[in-house]
Amino acid sequence: MAPTFKPDRIITVLGDQLTDQIAALRSGNRGTDIVLISEVMDEASYVRHHKKKLTFIFSAMRHFADQLSRDGWNVRYVKLDGPQNTGSIVGELQRALTELNIKSVLHTEASEYRLSSEISQWASSSDIKFTTLPDDRFIFGRDEFREWVGVRKQIRMEHFYRQVRRKTALLMDDEKPAGGKWNFDAENRSAASDDLSFPHPMQFVTDQITDEVLEMVEKLFPENIGQSRPFWFAVTRKDALSALDDFIKHALPHFGTYQDAMLEDEPFLFHSVLSQYLNVGLLQPLEICLRAEEAWRCGHAPINAAEGLIRQIIGWREFVRGIYWLKMPGYIESNFLETSRSLPDFYWTGDTEMACMRSTIEQTIEQSYAHHIQRLMVTGNFAMLAGVKPSEVHEWYLSVYSDAFEWVEAPNVIGMSQFADGGVLASKPYAASGNYINKMSNYCGNCRFNVKVKTGEDACPFNALYWNFLDRNSDKLNGNPRLGNTYRTWSKMSIEKQSSYNRSAEIFLGKL
Ligand code: FAD
Ligand code: SF4
Repeated sequence: MAPTFKPDRIITVLGDQLTDQIAALRSGNRGTDIVLISEVMDEASYVRHHKKKLTFIFSAMRHFADQLSRDGWNVRYVKLDGPQNTGSIVGELQRALTELNIKSVLHTEASEYRLSSEISQWASSSDIKFTTLPDDRFIFGRDEFREWVGVRKQIRMEHFYRQVRRKTALLMDDEKPAGGKWNFDAENRSAASDDLSFPHPMQFVTDQITDEVLEMVEKLFPENIGQSRPFWFAVTRKDALSALDDFIKHALPHFGTYQDAMLEDEPFLFHSVLSQYLNVGLLQPLEICLRAEEAWRCGHAPINAAEGLIRQIIGWREFVRGIYWLKMPGYIESNFLETSRSLPDFYWTGDTEMACMRSTIEQTIEQSYAHHIQRLMVTGNFAMLAGVKPSEVHEWYLSVYSDAFEWVEAPNVIGMSQFADGGVLASKPYAASGNYINKMSNYCGNCRFNVKVKTGEDACPFNALYWNFLDRNSDKLNGNPRLGNTYRTWSKMSIEKQSSYNRSAEIFLGKL
């Protein structure tokens, strides 16, 4: 008879730690540890996550648990609809400790403040030996970021990015940036024409595990936003690696040039659509960057594409995580512009006459995806110009995107898109009129509003809202050196013109 396995320690693996490279598994022992992976209602319902997001995470968790078992780990897997599920991570941890009579836990720090503090409060009030390891999937540790910030008056991504380039030696020729410049962003602002052909991100067929999860999500979350089917995301590391290969081969060469472009009915363009894989651990940041650098060095992709992608990952992604942990708790309640409007209902339905908003929101509902410029300059820009409460904007973004975890979503929303942190993350608000959207997209041609008209019934709402936003917030923003020219333009306008902008904006906002 085989000896019964008697574990003496639990290793926790959370839903966004799905890699055998996570610190606790690297330090674990297959002969004496048991891995605990729990699907719990607290995590599935603290916002009303998109059905595709829930399906993606639960299916990836179940596949990862199977992989660990095949690799010789003992795994205790708790399903969301399991009969004794307590509904919380600490509840499941406590239940496992009691049932297995174990007094020791090895844990990798949680990525979100909410869960991290819940776990540490529970651990400090219990009598078990609880060891927490840092999540070293990130290139810059939390303390290292704090040290880097030090006494700097301004924390800017571009300075941080150079430091990470040096630290990783990515795109470096000795001490110098490869290609002679740190940043090739100026080459990455082309609009896309309708006749370009775009590679669709790699799609995967569902297996029995995913089909079961799809059924469970439909049953338990019928009212949540979005459609779970068709479901085509990768849910294993093997498939995520194929998606990475496919991106490098087909899309990376044009990624940079058309990074800011938007086209109706083309949700993905040349974007990687890898963030959800990266954020749950199916892919690692450095492996993507090394592939991009290699593609440039062997002549497959231009430097503006490789550098652009690497900057997003080792620059922005690491930077926002640093800001999140530097400023939490409290960051998500920031409301520098003191706004109070509720999020318009059409954010949940796409039912609006503004073609750019309708297209971005409908695509979000369908795919649980929108690319960066759609998030920043369409839905984010509109919410900021309209004066929506940042907390409601934050909740929307956290719900609707399959890559949304608070550590990365909140700084992008609160800081970058809403300027609600007063300039910690961005040096000025990303505010724009319809002109920018028209330049970078083909939305305006299909809109009931006219982007060239500035005020009145038929005018593009972004035009009047833009000036009204600046006027409304002039006491807070007028002193910003990066807005000097804009405020000078406003002050040179006739009083009649200014009033006409403000009146148009107020009429539009009154109808929201
Ligand atoms: P690509 O355009 O192909 O970029 C490559 C990778 O770079 C991404 O996969 C991502 O990992 C990284 N990246 C790019 N920009 C950023 C950024 N600003 N911050 C962090 N990483 C970045 N990203 C998330 O991962 N989760 C979120 O919840 C999220 N919410 C956002 C909300 C707003 C308002 C804005 C403006 C941006 C948000 N982003 C978020 C950043 C960015 O929009 C997404 O990472 C990107 O659109 C994901 O699509 P992709 O994988 O095709 O990215
Ligand atoms: Fe959007 Fe204005 Fe263009 Fe319509 S006209 S698509 S509202 S920017």
